[in-house]
Amino acid sequence: PVRVRFAPSPTGNLHVGGARTALFNYLFARSKGGKFVLRIEDTDLERSTRESEEAVLRDLAWLGLDWDEGPGVGGDYGPYRQSERNSMYKQYAEKLLESGHVYRCFCSNEELEKMKEMAELKKLPPVYSGKWATAAVGEVEEELAKGTLYTYRFRVPKEGSLTINDLIRGEVSWKLDTLGDFVIMRSNGQPVYNFCVTVDDATMAISHVIRAEEHLPNTLRQALIYKALGFPMPSFAHVSLILAPDRSKLSKRHGATSVGQYRDMGYLPQAMVNYLALLGWGDGTENEFFTIDQLVEKFSIGRVNKSGAVFDSTKLRWMNGQHLRAIPFEELSQLIGERWKSTGLLTESEGPFVDDAVQLLKDGIDLVTDSDTALSNLLSYPLHATLTSPEGRPIVEDKLSEVSAHLLAAYDSGELFGALEEGPAGWQKWVKGFGKTLKRKGKSLFMPLRVLLTGKLHGPDMGSSVILIYKAGSHGIVSPQAG
Ligand code: GLU
Repeated sequence: PVRVRFAPSPTGNLHVGGARTALFNYLFARSKGGKFVLRIEDTDLERSTRESEEAVLRDLAWLGLDWDEGPGVGGDYGPYRQSERNSMYKQYAEKLLESGHVYRCFCSNEELEKMKEMAELKKLPPVYSGKWATAAVGEVEEELAKGTLYTYRFRVPKEGSLTINDLIRGEVSWKLDTLGDFVIMRSNGQPVYNFCVTVDDATMAISHVIRAEEHLPNTLRQALIYKALGFPMPSFAHVSLILAPDRSKLSKRHGATSVGQYRDMGYLPQAMVNYLALLGWGDGTENEFFTIDQLVEKFSIGRVNKSGAVFDSTKLRWMNGQHLRAIPFEELSQLIGERWKSTGLLTESEGPFVDDAVQLLKDGIDLVTDSDTALSNLLSYPLHATLTSPEGRPIVEDKLSEVSAHLLAAYDSGELFGALEEGPAGWQKWVKGFGKTLKRKGKSLFMPLRVLLTGKLHGPDMGSSVILIYKAGSHGIVSPQAG
């Protein structure tokens, strides 16, 4: 059975790179009917925090990447935090000691330093060459009796090579003679990172290890430990880095890099998921719009690209607009209406005014948060005030005098607002008549009208805009502090 895991170290926020790794694991599990396991790698006690773990879990949940086993949901292979698995690491270290794959190394730090210097002088690789790899039982017992501190050192075959068949990178080989016997447990009993990961992946029956490229070098040590423990080796898939537009490693100086930041900026989880999936993967067609269900259906690890993928925040924004407009209208209207109410732009969060405004403005926005500016831009030209106030009149009169004179007349007679009160049909009828009187049509009619009525040269559909501006003013929908 397919079992994959996402194994974040809780030392910060969920980065877009981590989120993409989690997503690929999730998609792989769901597309294969397998299990998606979440494991917290908190062996670095100094840097790991519970707040960070909670933030990571919250962000994964927000993206909709629900895990089948792990913190909060449990499972048969727990505990799911490395800090709670120490007895297991001990147990497997002892097992390897018994089988001879590991030996006790009593070398002091000074001795190890000296060995390194000697190797450097002789231009040899810095591999362990101490006597404890071949020490006799008696010698070991002597040191134990003296209470000398020791590490557990893994016996690496001195020749040959190890090859894995990475699902993304193909065959990857390492020669063993340069590795040297490595420590798996420190003299204070602390297991070493690569050992923990291997014991965890093996005992959690992980079938596919899908992770960031930066962990590829760790795979050699991990594969050797796998073999020594006698566990079947999982398949590996190392996903390439996410790059900044200048092709350097993506970092904070390139702008927002954490999932939480994007959520706070108003991005939709479905857009994030879609965009992250496209960082290094595509279905082979031109299609770029995918729901998470479609991704599950289409995803294949074999189609994941070997080269680094560039993170393009402009494209992510565009993608968000695509997903925003894919939301069923009623839902979208509610979402945006609530936002307008919560930001104090409107006094009501629903109703025909909100629906009309959302309908009018939705094509011009990519983020829910963009809707604030869109609405306040629209409403910043109150018709009543502009047409009635002594300060407003000169503006209207100065500009485009012929059209504005007639416009003022239409206002004074009540004709204009009467037409607006009737909605789109009323507006259309009025504009037609207005054009006839002035002997203007097309651009020469609509441009001055737009400027006089909305204060702007461009914008969404003029009739709908003006009706909304009018309604906002005459029905008291707009919050007093808005505009
Ligand atoms: N804890 C590691 C990280 O956060 C992942 C290790 C792995 O996937 O093997 O980068």
